[in-house]
Amino acid sequence: MPQIDVRTMELRQLKQHILTLATLPETEAPVVSCYLALSAGAVADRNEFEAQVAALKIGSRGMSRRDLADAIKPIEAYLATELSPEAKGLAVFSRAGDTPYFLPLPVHISLPNWIVADSTPNLFHLVELKDSYHRYVLMICSETRARILEVNLGAVTAELWRQRPETRQRVGRTWTKRHYQHHRRGRAEQFLKEKVAVLERLMSSEGHVHLILAGDRRITDRLRRELPEHLLAQLVGVIPASSTSRDDTDVVQSTIASLIAAEQTESHETVDELLYQLRQGHLAAAGTKATHRALYCGQADVVVIAKQYAPGLGWTCGECGFTELEQPRPDTSCPECDARALHDFDIKEAIVRMAERHGCIVEVVNESEPLQRLGGIGCLLRYRLSDSCV
Ligand SMILES: [Zn+2]
Repeated sequence: MPQIDVRTMELRQLKQHILTLATLPETEAPVVSCYLALSAGAVADRNEFEAQVAALKIGSRGMSRRDLADAIKPIEAYLATELSPEAKGLAVFSRAGDTPYFLPLPVHISLPNWIVADSTPNLFHLVELKDSYHRYVLMICSETRARILEVNLGAVTAELWRQRPETRQRVGRTWTKRHYQHHRRGRAEQFLKEKVAVLERLMSSEGHVHLILAGDRRITDRLRRELPEHLLAQLVGVIPASSTSRDDTDVVQSTIASLIAAEQTESHETVDELLYQLRQGHLAAAGTKATHRALYCGQADVVVIAKQYAPGLGWTCGECGFTELEQPRPDTSCPECDARALHDFDIKEAIVRMAERHGCIVEVVNESEPLQRLGGIGCLLRYRLSDSCV
């Protein structure tokens, strides 16, 4: 069983796990995907979880009850013994049968309670998590102290830099009060300039593109004026914080809201780009069918999905691969090859899985009227859709 430490789980690792899950070969046995909100080292709503498990066991037709029960057992064992009090959410994927699989992913962010069994892992919530919580740099500053932290998926993963002031004793007793105050003002300005220089170097060397400032308003305002243009463009939030607090947990928590807001702005910009490309008639596709086709043909680059997108089930023929997204599944046989191997699939999950397999960017958008009008989904293309791929 892979050991995943909630304190060190980073966006990079989450991306790797998503790719593993998106490419997990199917077997006869179902994969149980379970998402949970945690609280103080336990399942936040135990009753809801148990009700969902019971409903899953009753409702999963066409699956081996034994495989299903055997997949749920290690999840319950993990919940009983392995939960870290620091984790606020858990995504866990479990399969029994001949090729068992078990992957628990504890995270610092609460997840919706959701359990489902299918032939492949259910990835949407994980992909949404990846899209919403970028890693970012947080600078907490006062007039004399500064800390620069790297935050990944809601947790501090590195202290990149810390500076403490020169103490007053070093100024010397012989200075006059005026001389001292002048010196102090000069020091404070110098201190800010130095901080910005360090920040600039760290952001570019570590490949960061999001910055949040926290601290006393007067200081953050001055700091902001010192930021060069390109850092200002990467600033996604400024939050008030007490400079005397020794614990940065609350500061980190309050930056999350800033980041989600910035992420939503980015998502809406992607929708604007999608609309522009559609008007130009070039590098975009919209709606379930066109997006599915672009992904199937490997032409999609960025997939834009409304959070509320719910296209339901499609069906496919296990024999010839004929796939239908809009018409109901016939009771009899495949209209193309007459085989009786037709089975349903979750369209949204199939789209997300293809997008991850192809390394596309997936933008999840909350509340976008224009995107809803396009059917809740669309994509930007690497190159123009050709008729040769169907
Ligand atoms: Zn067929």
